[in-house]
Amino acid sequence: MKDHEEMLDYVKKDAEENGYYVCPDEDLLEDLISGLVDNEKRYGYASCPCRAASAVKQYDVDIICPCEYRDADVNEYGMCYCGLFVSEEVHEDPSKLGPIPERRPESIIDAGMEAKEKGTDEIEIDEKEELHVWRCTVCGYLAAREKPPPICPICKAKAERFVKFEM
Ligand code: SF4
Repeated sequence: MKDHEEMLDYVKKDAEENGYYVCPDEDLLEDLISGLVDNEKRYGYASCPCRAASAVKQYDVDIICPCEYRDADVNEYGMCYCGLFVSEEVHEDPSKLGPIPERRPESIIDAGMEAKEKGTDEIEIDEKEELHVWRCTVCGYLAAREKPPPICPICKAKAERFVKFEM
């Protein structure tokens, strides 16, 4: 488990390694880091501080920070959904920070909440026809979603390294 400073260092290092910047609004940055620390304590993993987690890890892996959607959002909007990671443009002009659309598919959010209500950690894909479980053939990471993730959040393997996981 990371404390506040360790989480901040982790986020800054990740931003630097990926060519991003951290949130230029210091108050918001502190809140987001606190949210990550709290979520890691609560769930055992640092899920996104501005999304509701299901607490069922199989359904939350796509929103463990940095989430699967970060790169696409920073590319398109200059910031991730929370504004924790931003582009150089937003870093230099913080007035560009603002809400962006949610990229996470509703089917995954619904499936996670359903699993939470049922108190199960089983991935039940039969009730969600469009949802499949994808396994990264490099590191074994599992993702419940319509299509394979563009990049594995664990080992960074590309989408073509994912195969459908048969239960
Ligand atoms: S939107 Fe993604 S990258 Fe940004 S704080 Fe949430 S989980 Fe992290």
